[in-house]
Amino acid sequence: MVRIILANPRGFCAGVNMAIETLDQALHLFGAPVYVYHEIVHNKHVVERFRAKGAIFVDSLGEVPAGATVVFSAHGVSPEIRRAAADRDLRVIDATCPLVTKVHTEAVRFARQGRTILLIGHEGHDEITGTMGEAPERMRLVQSVDEAATLGLDDEDHLAFLTQTTLSVDDANQIIERLRDRFPAVAAPPSEDICYATQNRQEAVRQLAREADVVLVLGSQNSSNSRRLAEIAGEMGVPAHLIDCASEIEPGWLAGVERVAITAGASAPEELVAECVAYLEARYGASVEDRRTRTEDMHFQLPVELRRALAARQHPAEPPVAPEPV
Ligand code: SF4
Repeated sequence: MVRIILANPRGFCAGVNMAIETLDQALHLFGAPVYVYHEIVHNKHVVERFRAKGAIFVDSLGEVPAGATVVFSAHGVSPEIRRAAADRDLRVIDATCPLVTKVHTEAVRFARQGRTILLIGHEGHDEITGTMGEAPERMRLVQSVDEAATLGLDDEDHLAFLTQTTLSVDDANQIIERLRDRFPAVAAPPSEDICYATQNRQEAVRQLAREADVVLVLGSQNSSNSRRLAEIAGEMGVPAHLIDCASEIEPGWLAGVERVAITAGASAPEELVAECVAYLEARYGASVEDRRTRTEDMHFQLPVELRRALAARQHPAEPPVAPEPV
């Protein structure tokens, strides 16, 4: 009989929860359409659900009518985008994850110190585009150990490194090690940039993959942290499949399999996990074991602009008192 081992923690992180609630509340408060700069989180189902509710996802602020409401996604934006939004008089609600904002703040600080910033991450990812925009003239993207080994720099004495929040911890450490070998004085961020959710989900999948014949990761192909989960299991020699939903499961993956580990990236809704479990129970009579490797209690507040708008809705200003008739 097939046994399912469910990774815990899995799925939504505090940043994704906050971003999703932000967009829900913005639609409720201001009505459709609400524009969203980039996908609110990198998940096909989440994006489709919001599209059906009246969210319009754009890749350029030029697509947003002047004065409209725009939500910045969890991945953050560059200062240039903030300025463009102000120039177009848009009502901005910033759903950037605070852990991404932390990396932006570090970038600004290192740039002010006159350092070249070696940003470890994946070219083209929304988060990297936003972070690089904080100090474009000072940034150098480093995507691999090879790049770290061959990087040519004019000034090797004033360097710092930062990382994307959703990298593989092991891959990032190898790159950092190579950078430190070459540039011993390279400054590091005061605390780890790879976020708690990324680390916890990687730790869980690493433990569970040891016991599994196959690993299923719920998440979209453009979700960096989801891809890393499937890669980690694959690197351990366990077949791993990144899927958007249960209908993508191919029966051949489960032929002769006894133990299936299931996890989900930080942007994948729990109902997709439940649907997968239900499918395996119905088709293979699978039993389920929830395996907790860590407890999470992180929570992020809604963006300040939204909190103010909600407070104003709940406690509208007193109407001006009409003058007494004379
Ligand atoms: S994965 Fe990490 S950095 Fe990204 S939204 Fe979640 S908590 Fe924030």
